[in-house]
Amino acid sequence: MFEKRRPGAVLFDRDGTLIRDVPYNGDPRLVEPMPGATEALCRLRRADVPVAVVTNQSGVAKGLVTPDEMDQVNARVEELLGPFDAWAICVHDDTDGCTCRKPAPGLVIRAAAVLDVSPRDCVVVGDIGRDMEAARAAGARGILVPTMDTLPEEIEEAPEVADDLTDVVERVLNDVGEAPVPAAAAPWARAMGWSRW
Ligand SMILES: [Mg+2]
Ligand SMILES: [Zn+2]
Repeated sequence: MFEKRRPGAVLFDRDGTLIRDVPYNGDPRLVEPMPGATEALCRLRRADVPVAVVTNQSGVAKGLVTPDEMDQVNARVEELLGPFDAWAICVHDDTDGCTCRKPAPGLVIRAAAVLDVSPRDCVVVGDIGRDMEAARAAGARGILVPTMDTLPEEIEEAPEVADDLTDVVERVLNDVGEAPVPAAAAPWARAMGWSRW
């Protein structure tokens, strides 16, 4: 048996994980929570586990979503799902070479820093391989919740797979599943100065 230990924080991907994925959505009216999202977040908040969002929003870099539209969508997410303790958002695109766009670990490291917890004590929940790679690179525990858009190889390569967000909370609060992977990227992250974010 593992020692029962609550995580320092649970960091959720936004699109396809907390809310239905509407590509490059700038319309708050189209925000629709994923099944079980509200209950899952309630249970974590009740257990005093900080919850955050770590999200790639390349629509901003592409000019398909304005920063204001993105803010409105995020405000709607909080209206429907309740307040988050931190938001870490990457508004860049693949070609920008930033350190935050998943699969890079920047968003996970930034959210953990804001919440004053170690990335190693964080759980990252997402629907695609990029989320799991970011988790692994930051030394966090990754849990994949596949949707119809998740590729078979992403499921195969995931460190841990949950049926849905209810299953995620069961795993996180009851410590079911695997122990967190060692933080291979942590010294590198410090060298890059991310710990100051
Ligand atoms: Mg997603
Ligand atoms: Zn970025």
